[in-house]
Amino acid sequence: MRMLLVEDEKKVSELVARALRAERYAVDVADDGTRGWELASAFDYDLIILDLMLPGVPGEELLRRIRRKNQQVPILILTARDATEEKVHNFEAGADDYLTKPFAFAELIMRVKALLRRGPVTRSSVLRVADLEVDRFSQQVRRAGKRIDLTPKEYALLEYLAANPGRVFSRTMIIEHVWDQSFEGLTNIVDVYVRHLRGKVDDPFPVKLIRTVRGVGYGLAEGPAE
Ligand code: CA
Repeated sequence: MRMLLVEDEKKVSELVARALRAERYAVDVADDGTRGWELASAFDYDLIILDLMLPGVPGEELLRRIRRKNQQVPILILTARDATEEKVHNFEAGADDYLTKPFAFAELIMRVKALLRRGPVTRSSVLRVADLEVDRFSQQVRRAGKRIDLTPKEYALLEYLAANPGRVFSRTMIIEHVWDQSFEGLTNIVDVYVRHLRGKVDDPFPVKLIRTVRGVGYGLAEGPAE
C-alpha cells in the first residue's frame, strides 16, 4: 500500500510518516499543496492523508482536485480546525474521514486501516432516473435541472423508489421502508404521498416517471415514458 501524506509541519509529517512506515506502508511526503497536487496527479495512491492548512494549493482546493481526478482513493483529512460546518463541507467535497490535531498515532493508524479495509467505493450520492436527480447526501431533488422542494416524507418515498428504478413496490413494502414503527395508519397513506409527489415531480413536466401498477403498487420508470 502506497500513501501520500501532504503536511507542511515537518515535525508532524516526520512522525506520521514514521508511524505509517512502521506498519509497512510506503509513504510519499509533500510539504506543500503544490507538491501534493504534483504527486497526487502522477501516482495512483491507495490512500491520501491531507492537512488542510497548507502553503501553495490550499487543502480544500487540493481535496476537490484530487476527488475530481480520482473518485476511488480514500482521503483522510488532518486538521487543527474542529468546526462541524467545515467538516460537513469537506465531507461533501469528498473527504472520507477526519482527524483533528493533536491526535494519537494509534488512532491515525486505526483510521487508515479502516479506510483501506473499506476498499473502493462508489462515491456518487446521486441517483438518476431519466432527467430526475436525487442526491442522497444533500437530499436535494432536481428534475431537468430544476430544484424541487419536497417534505421529508415525500423525499424518503422518492429516494426509495429512485434507488430501484423499474421495480414495482407494494404499499406494504413502501411503508416498511419509508415510515417507522410508530406508524399505525392505513396503507392508503402511500397513495396520498404518491399523489403529492406526482404533483411536484411529474405534473410540471411532459414525461411522467411515477408509475402505478394496478393491484400491485408503485415504481419509477426506468427511462422516459412511452
Ligand atoms: Ca498545516
